[in-house]
Amino acid sequence: MITIPVAEPDLSGNEKKYVDDCLDTTWISSLGKYITEFEQGFAAFCGVRHGVSVSNGTAALHLALAALNIKAGDEVIVPDLTFVASANAVAYTGATPVLADVDKKTWNIDPEKIREKITADTKAIMPVHLYGHPCDMEPIMELASKHNLFVIEDCAEAHGAEYRGKRVGSIGTIGCFSFYGNKIITTGEGGMCVTNDEKLAERMRFLKDHGMTRPHYYHPEVGFNFRMTNIQAAIGLAQLERIDKFIAAKIRNAKLYRQLLSNVPGITFQPEEPYARSVFWLHSILVEDDFRCSRGTLMKDLKAAGIDSRPFFIPMHELPPYRQDGFTVAAELSRKGINLPSSTLLTEDDIKKICSVIAAN
Ligand SMILES: *Cc1c(COP(=O)(O)O)cnc(C)c1O
Repeated sequence: MITIPVAEPDLSGNEKKYVDDCLDTTWISSLGKYITEFEQGFAAFCGVRHGVSVSNGTAALHLALAALNIKAGDEVIVPDLTFVASANAVAYTGATPVLADVDKKTWNIDPEKIREKITADTKAIMPVHLYGHPCDMEPIMELASKHNLFVIEDCAEAHGAEYRGKRVGSIGTIGCFSFYGNKIITTGEGGMCVTNDEKLAERMRFLKDHGMTRPHYYHPEVGFNFRMTNIQAAIGLAQLERIDKFIAAKIRNAKLYRQLLSNVPGITFQPEEPYARSVFWLHSILVEDDFRCSRGTLMKDLKAAGIDSRPFFIPMHELPPYRQDGFTVAAELSRKGINLPSSTLLTEDDIKKICSVIAAN
């Protein structure tokens, strides 16, 4: 019996009221006031001019790549340690996801490894702000400008995270967000592309709605149906009203986990770099070789106490579609990592209980 889940959304604000409004007014499809309000509100939250809502985070990445005309023969550099959607979105366009290993300390894509992977066919870099911690964007942006590459930020796990005072999603060419049920804010399923480039925003709006221009039913290109519904946006707007509270809870919980586990031998964390404000999407630990038991045993102990947990992502290079050798850092992190319960609804007692199981007190 799981009593502490690994993730759980907080829908206790205006979510129900706004969804009821959609039903009462019959605006349940992909037109309506909540879509505009959510797009504008979320873009403003990111410090960016334009927001283009889509049906999920993977569609956001796919749409961004398509709008930048990434296609077969092109290469896009993605981190080896990420959720599979980052690499898959590149594959959907016909381009090749080129893997770069991550940094042992930050767990994020290593700028030096990006440099080694740049070829004449490279068109873009897709940094992923893993577990809510921003990538080291300055060297990445320098490489991009030197080699004339686009930067598509995968911000699916990092809404509100900051790199040197700038919100993620506002640094690269386009920022892509997910609003899946376990993300910092949720719309059930949903996503958004944000950009300061008006032409790109227009192109994304065109491509996500079947590539249609006016007059109706003229389609100069093959587009997509990546539209978000007004109901999803209604939930999103209610979530956005409380996003600062959610982030504060994530930060508070991260501090408590770190404090309670600081003296446990063999447990380490993703450090918060001086350039970063992490939003601690997931509370993740590494079970080092000198810990009292194996990672698998610890996960079983947690489960026996009613506490759910998840292993880290399997690195892309170990998955059949992207199988290749030579990525030692991601492989090691993946082997050692556990994601602990991370909901903003966790109580102090929940976290104390989880930590006492880990510490075997
Ligand atoms: C969640 C996630 C996505 C995909 O989002 P969906 O909304 O599930 O399609 C993409 N990239 C990363 C890093 C994610 O964590």
